[in-house]
Amino acid sequence: MTGTLIVGGGQAGAQIAAGLRDHGYDRPVTLVGSEHIPPYQRPPLSKDYLLGKLPAAKLALRNEQYYARKDIDVVTGTSVTEAGIGDDGGWARTADGRRFTFEYLALATGAQPRRLPGDMGSPGNLLYLRTVADADRLRSLLDTATRFVVIGGGFIGLEAAAVLRAHGKQVTVVEMADRLLNRVAGSELGDFYLDAHRRRGVGFRLGRSVTALTTGATGDAVGVVLDGGETLACDAVVAGVGVVRDPRLAEQLGLAWDNGVIVDRYARTSHPRVVAAGDCVLGPHPAATGRIRLESVQNAVAQAKVAAATICGRTEPYTAVPWFWSNQGTLRLQTAGLHAGATRRILRGDPRTENFSVIYLRENTLTAVEAMNRPADFATARTLLAAGAELVGPATAVADPDIPLADALAVPATTT
Ligand code: FAD
Ligand code: NAP
Repeated sequence: MTGTLIVGGGQAGAQIAAGLRDHGYDRPVTLVGSEHIPPYQRPPLSKDYLLGKLPAAKLALRNEQYYARKDIDVVTGTSVTEAGIGDDGGWARTADGRRFTFEYLALATGAQPRRLPGDMGSPGNLLYLRTVADADRLRSLLDTATRFVVIGGGFIGLEAAAVLRAHGKQVTVVEMADRLLNRVAGSELGDFYLDAHRRRGVGFRLGRSVTALTTGATGDAVGVVLDGGETLACDAVVAGVGVVRDPRLAEQLGLAWDNGVIVDRYARTSHPRVVAAGDCVLGPHPAATGRIRLESVQNAVAQAKVAAATICGRTEPYTAVPWFWSNQGTLRLQTAGLHAGATRRILRGDPRTENFSVIYLRENTLTAVEAMNRPADFATARTLLAAGAELVGPATAVADPDIPLADALAVPATTT
């Protein structure tokens, strides 16, 4: 058995393939992806692609010539459904009957949208947003639908709401929690987005969940029924209520699993011949206590590089500072670090100006920044986070948006 089989043709899968070749790996590399096109970027699906500003051809992560030049065999449109493994390698079979053998297996199967209970009867105008096919379905509704209900006030929901408003649609976001971005950001940012999107005409129902959809003569949803009894009239429903991971391959391979493939800091799973990276993974990070799930492009790319290095026999632990971005119209968020576990937070600037940052500290150590339309704060904080910076003066210096962050936070001198 020779070569590496990569299961999953997304951001992480593509990067593992590229990383192997970058390290000079000279054995066969095969990537199998269930979608019908080679690996592409998902972020534009809820931004410029949905706005109609980016053509489908521009979504691809790499062009076909790249894969040919690097001798990477890309198999699209089929899923790996069965796999087995021993001490020296293993085998895998796809839904369309192909069989592969490998010496290393890389799992990059990502995540899938969490479905509403029973898909609420599966009306044709209830949409999720994960793939280019999902985005195309949503785009096709833009010609006819006027009133959209977005279920979920996470990044998918808010980005979709911003684009739908830009298309002139009536939009109401329903969020179960009392605030937006409950799981992924601090309360300042959640409160800010609520005000900013309201100013742009988006309606909100917070602390409400959806109990049913009512349907019309065609079977399409015409109403979204909330707990408490209110019904929101709609022409289409977009659900962004988080993601789930498919445990089936991990189970067949006997891999440790906890709502994600468990990996160590070298992207190694519990089997020495299997690595994993991206949204499908639960793993350690130096900035976190315990294992965490990071669902971002940066994580998929950085962890995939680590996985590729591991296959090539190099020990390069995953230490990269987590970061991501979210563009919602003119609201350009960039975050770096992890805010969970912070003991202090300092607001830098006035959220009403739509230009501010939130700085998170554990005692005096910088742990994260959320920068709204402040790319300089983001860039500085990323560098400072990597170096382990601390507050060196009064907190008022951090709070003053006119004082450069690097003047208020500094890396402690080390004694040798
Ligand atoms: P995925 O991209 O999900 O790729 C996994 C692939 O594996 C899929 O194509 C899947 O079909 C395939 N697959 C699964 N099982 C099998 C199997 N058994 N056999 C073969 N193939 C299989 N992150 C940011 O940092 N910034 C953003 O602005 C941002 N915007 C986003 C917008 C949208 C609409 C979405 C959906 C996500 C966004 N993200 C963003 C998150 C980011 O795209 C993901 O974290 C990243 O794509 C994860 O990459 P991945 O390769 O782990 O998983
Ligand atoms: P998410 O961040 O988990 O947000 C989903 C939100 O929906 C949560 O606030 C959740 O509340 C709420 N919710 C769950 N069930 C609900 C219900 N029945 N009714 C109303 N609200 C409900 O996930 P997402 O926004 O769907 O995003 C999916 C994935 O895409 C994530 O991996 C995300 O990171 C990624 N993504 C990233 C970006 C970006 O980084 N810019 C952009 C788009 C997508 P609870 O928290 O209380 O469960």
